[in-house]
Amino acid sequence: MPSINDLLASMDYGPSPESTAAANAWLEDHGRRFGHWIGGRWVAGKGHFPTVNPATGKPLAEVAQATPAQLESAVKAAEAALPAWQALGDGGRARVLYAIARMLQKHARLFAVLETLDNGKPIRETRDADLPLAIRHFYHHAGWAQLLSETHPGHEPLGVVGQIVPWNFPLLMLAWKIAPALACGNVVVFKPAEQTSLTALLFAELCAEAGVPPGVINVVTGDGAVGQALVAHPRLAKIAFTGSTEVGRSIRQATAGTGRRLSLELGGKSPYIVFADADLDGAVEGLVDSIFFNQGQVCCAGSRLLVHEGTAPRLLDKLRARMSRIRLGDPLDKSTDMGALVDATQWRRVQGFVERAAAQGATVHQACATALPAGGGVAHCFYPPTLVTGVDTASEIVREEVFGPVLAVQTFRTPAEAVELANHTRYGLAASVWSESIGLALDVAPRLKAGVVWVNTANQFDAACGFGGYRESGFGREGGREGLREYLRERSPHVGGGEDAGTAASSRPARRGAAARAATAALVPDGGGIDRTVKLYIGGKQVRPDGGYSREIRAPAAGRSVPRLLGLVSEGNRKDIRNAVEAARAAAAWSRQTAHARAQVLFYLAENLSAQRLRFEATLALTTDAASAAAEVERALTLLFRAAAWADKFDGAVHQPPVHGVTLALNEPVGIVGLVAPQQAPLAGLLERLAPAITLGNRVVAVPSSSQPLVTGELIPWLETSDVPAGVVNLVTGDADALADVLAGHAEVDAFWWPDADATQAARTQRLSAGNLKRTWVSAPTASLQDTLQEATQVKNVWVPYGV
Ligand code: NDP
Repeated sequence: MPSINDLLASMDYGPSPESTAAANAWLEDHGRRFGHWIGGRWVAGKGHFPTVNPATGKPLAEVAQATPAQLESAVKAAEAALPAWQALGDGGRARVLYAIARMLQKHARLFAVLETLDNGKPIRETRDADLPLAIRHFYHHAGWAQLLSETHPGHEPLGVVGQIVPWNFPLLMLAWKIAPALACGNVVVFKPAEQTSLTALLFAELCAEAGVPPGVINVVTGDGAVGQALVAHPRLAKIAFTGSTEVGRSIRQATAGTGRRLSLELGGKSPYIVFADADLDGAVEGLVDSIFFNQGQVCCAGSRLLVHEGTAPRLLDKLRARMSRIRLGDPLDKSTDMGALVDATQWRRVQGFVERAAAQGATVHQACATALPAGGGVAHCFYPPTLVTGVDTASEIVREEVFGPVLAVQTFRTPAEAVELANHTRYGLAASVWSESIGLALDVAPRLKAGVVWVNTANQFDAACGFGGYRESGFGREGGREGLREYLRERSPHVGGGEDAGTAASSRPARRGAAARAATAALVPDGGGIDRTVKLYIGGKQVRPDGGYSREIRAPAAGRSVPRLLGLVSEGNRKDIRNAVEAARAAAAWSRQTAHARAQVLFYLAENLSAQRLRFEATLALTTDAASAAAEVERALTLLFRAAAWADKFDGAVHQPPVHGVTLALNEPVGIVGLVAPQQAPLAGLLERLAPAITLGNRVVAVPSSSQPLVTGELIPWLETSDVPAGVVNLVTGDADALADVLAGHAEVDAFWWPDADATQAARTQRLSAGNLKRTWVSAPTASLQDTLQEATQVKNVWVPYGV
């Protein structure tokens, strides 16, 4: 009698086709020709292009190319809908979002089949991943809508938001975009990818039935030109984009200086790290999920396998065996593991990468359990699981996002080498770490430069857990609390450093003014004191400016023909900024300090500022009156105390997604912040941004006020005597415009802040920032401490098994 193993070995899969009847009926009902969904109704298209089922090569329907006039009418419909949508209130919007979730649930199979037809991904994935995740996103955000006033007091929605998504997860990306926007009280103009517009159109139509008011959701279809026109539309308050890094960069440039909010979810080259003590069978299953899920067309795909050298042969043997059992074929068959790529263009792109790798000497292994579908023009849409070995960090296939089922393999010997290889990329979207040692896994996770880290798992997503990248994988998060923030702004920004800022200053005794005046006399060159040179402060040292020039600072002109010379400061240049960034980079240990230790430094800064108050007041009084100078020092003290207080309280969260695990949402510092301080309030204006930045572990290269920089002469000895480690704060005085450009364009600066940049300055520096896609925060003269702390933070979500 055959054993169960014998039976299992001899059993084959029978066909298990999914019916397309309902999806085809919906397409037929619309004459297989679609317009745009604007203001709650269909608007006929003026020019159409076919949308094709990549698995059969047959056209499914015709989709319209939006004209500029149609785009304009979509924005107008959204604007018209905005007041009533906001007037619905939290509870009203929550009910609408809940109804959308219910609607998706009721039509889940129709959506899943339509998505499979249009995209080529297997029904098992649309049915079991895309739909449940999209539904969960709307339920979760119905909750946020209900709680918004409670959880986000003092904040308001942005208005009309433009949203653009790619073709790899058409409906899921729609959910990630639309749910938080609506929950926060915004209305949207949404553009799906040209290859995969159908589920967005079905969604919009069914939303009307679910009670979404006309104009709240508008869908315009078309190619990249429509996306470009949407980005250029002057009345959109925000652009939310998911897609390639290249297009993301062009959107950063196009929106520079417009004041429009921007979030970018871009490409990745995510590492999948397997240590010697990993559960190898689990790691292989995880790999299959990580790189072959959705045919590898996943932004966070684990496309770089980094495996311990001694473990590599065993792991790769297991992987090859597993690949040979992957069923590739008809995406509508429920036994299919991998379906079609989105189109032949994508196939050629993937094939190009693989051919070039082979030509450069790499070994390419391809396998699957089924014969590749052929005929009917689909030969160039199915791509087998592919393993590429014999590559190194310089190989194109290790550096570039392939966006297909192609895994490149490298080995390492030590955990340190694994981390170094993992971070050796311009991207920073996700990472997986496989080890049975909790100590090792949780030691490595924080050292990975990625927005998401999965421990002993891969490709997990949930509405409660933010998702998004570091570095050139973009900025902004989707999902979770941090995702909501992308769709809100402060209603009445705080002026100054906090609730109590400035109040104490008005009670400063007048004699302080007299003391300050006396001290001033000693500082002013023509007052008879010893000449004083204000140098730059870089890497904890006072240094002379590279160019050897100084800048004269004169008293505000007040009827005197030649304003009095108050002093000289160093004229920093490009090289000084570069040195300062280098010093900030070397001070990375500050980011790993405990929050308690950082708070101690901030408190000590406050203590010393208090002790050195007279000197500061005297210098500030050179360009203002004594009372204002005293008030500013008092404000600075309060700022330092408040920032110090938050150091160990601005912590993350533990999410409990519906899987066997917890997600640690950790507030990490952004890295190196380039700060151009406001012209006014040269002490408090600088500290208002600098103190929150460093209290959370960032390092700062600051350009002090270029019109009132003399306070730098007081800041330097104050920093030197307050235990601020070298390189954590660097001060480069000089021309704000010139230095701002260097900071904004510097590839190692992670964030660029210029609170009082005017429109021209904002446009120029945001364009420059596109090089490394750094976060920018410009033309924001007032901000609460809470918002500043948020800007100084990026959230890393670490998924950890728990209770499995
Ligand atoms: P794109 O970034 O070009 O497209 C994404 C979306 O943006 C689509 O809706 C697209 O419209 C639209 N778009 C295109 N150009 C512009 C523009 N200038 N301004 C505004 N919107 C625009 O990705 P592709 O679809 O062309 O894919 C190319 C490659 O990008 C892939 O092979 C993959 O490597 C990578 N990619 C990465 C993704 C990720 O999540 N990391 C997602 C998708 C792609 P339309 O589709 O109509 O052209």
